[in-house]
Amino acid sequence: MTNTATALNDNESTMSTIEVNDRTRGLNYDENLLWEKERCDTPGVDLPALKDMPSRTGLPMRGMIGLPQVSEPQVVRHFVRLSTKNYSIDSGFFPLGSCTMKHNPRLNEKNARMAGFGHIHPMQPESTVQGALAVMHDLQGWLAELTGLPGVCLTPAAGAQGELAGIMTIARALKLQGHHEKTVMLVPDSAHGTNPATAAMCGFKIRTIPTKDTGRVTVEAFKEALGDGKDIAGMMVTNPNTCGLFETDIAEIVDLLHEAGGYFYCDGANFNALVGKVRPGDFGVDVMHINLHKTFSTPHGGGGPGSGPICVAKSLEPYIPSPIVLKEGNTYRLERNGERETNCGRMKAFQGQFGMHVRALSYMMSHGADGLKQVSEDAVLNANYIHASLKNDYHAPFDGPVMHEALFTEKYQAKHGVTTLDIAKGLIEYGMHPMTVYFPLVVNGAMLIEPTETEAKDALDRFILVMKKLAEDAKIKGPDYFHSLPQAAPASRLDELKAAREPKLRWVEDAA
Ligand SMILES: *Cc1c(COP(=O)(O)O)cnc(C)c1O
Repeated sequence: MTNTATALNDNESTMSTIEVNDRTRGLNYDENLLWEKERCDTPGVDLPALKDMPSRTGLPMRGMIGLPQVSEPQVVRHFVRLSTKNYSIDSGFFPLGSCTMKHNPRLNEKNARMAGFGHIHPMQPESTVQGALAVMHDLQGWLAELTGLPGVCLTPAAGAQGELAGIMTIARALKLQGHHEKTVMLVPDSAHGTNPATAAMCGFKIRTIPTKDTGRVTVEAFKEALGDGKDIAGMMVTNPNTCGLFETDIAEIVDLLHEAGGYFYCDGANFNALVGKVRPGDFGVDVMHINLHKTFSTPHGGGGPGSGPICVAKSLEPYIPSPIVLKEGNTYRLERNGERETNCGRMKAFQGQFGMHVRALSYMMSHGADGLKQVSEDAVLNANYIHASLKNDYHAPFDGPVMHEALFTEKYQAKHGVTTLDIAKGLIEYGMHPMTVYFPLVVNGAMLIEPTETEAKDALDRFILVMKKLAEDAKIKGPDYFHSLPQAAPASRLDELKAAREPKLRWVEDAA
């Protein structure tokens, strides 16, 4: 430690150490925890100590509660500095595959903040919130139209909870139909981890369909997993799948699944590749969740709560969670408790993330049918532009054309000792959020890149240029150089393994 000064507080034991050579550079401030900043026992505000004031509660006096003692300007600076450290879709390119990090139009935000939406309470009488119920009813209608699946429940709070709602719906249907023998859920090995986790939570056994060779579920692999089909409750597939490929045999596979009495659950996280072009109900989907915070641009990734409505085929409508929004004449209302006894339960208090419903409907109505179709076309075009531009520099495990995301691996770079993690750290050095790394698991050293339709060509071109530079550096400079990256970020390589295995969830003075 050089150039250290020591600030003395009243209490010797709470000295804070100030250094010239901290990481504050170029008007970017280093920022510690408030606890590390000030911990003297004098309060941050100047109130005279109360003299001769007996406690009138009859309880013992409260001792020190260990909060840092800081003034208002210190608190304001602390949180403003922290807020500038958030990388977000509003700061720059965010190519996380499978996450669909698209721009959130400000129009949606404006609408969600209108007093008539923002200031209402879920316990208000229905007669006073007819407009809000109309928004939810319209959103149910748009989702039914876009998916080709007429039964819609808006309540699930995220994609993963939508999966739970969808599989609970299937489980409820099978139970009420007396199909107790149907205990197995088929899941391809490229699936998002939430798929098998959801099925297991609902009491199903998981049978895995291997996809490694082609990146897709083939009819042969499916038949093998199906067996005689008697114990099959259903299948959970993401389409397009997590390798960014359309499941080309899906119609044939679903016919076989339906013949065996199984339900087809489609993980809708990748709907941005199909929205406005293809209705999943048309390729045999029985249940699907929608990530409003992916396809329909409501904020996520630290920006707001998720929302994961489910859409189901007519035959499953009786079993979806309650409440749904009903329209009688010109009046809207929520389903009442006990009104539909076949439902599979309730996912959440009240009726879901209403602010997200407003944003999603606003997005749909401002795009219109033609605009939504263009969304998926442009998303696919952008992904193919990246795929075609980088396929000589990075190993593409499956041939294009791809859907809305481009998948590469570390194979070419690994020859020089450079890994997917190294490439990700290199992107940070050049001011870009990394792509999704090491997912899907079926591909070694995966890099999954999803540009979305909202990136302009210059953003894609810079990303491509940086990726090419990193591929070149891997050859010329090798692993030692990469291990020093990122140098420009406030923190370079963190011990991620230690952070995952020994998380410190509480600040302890001695450990600082
Ligand atoms: C994002 C995602 C999910 C889960 O959605 P959350 O809203 O994050 O809970 C499920 N499956 C896939 C393929 C996803 O990309």
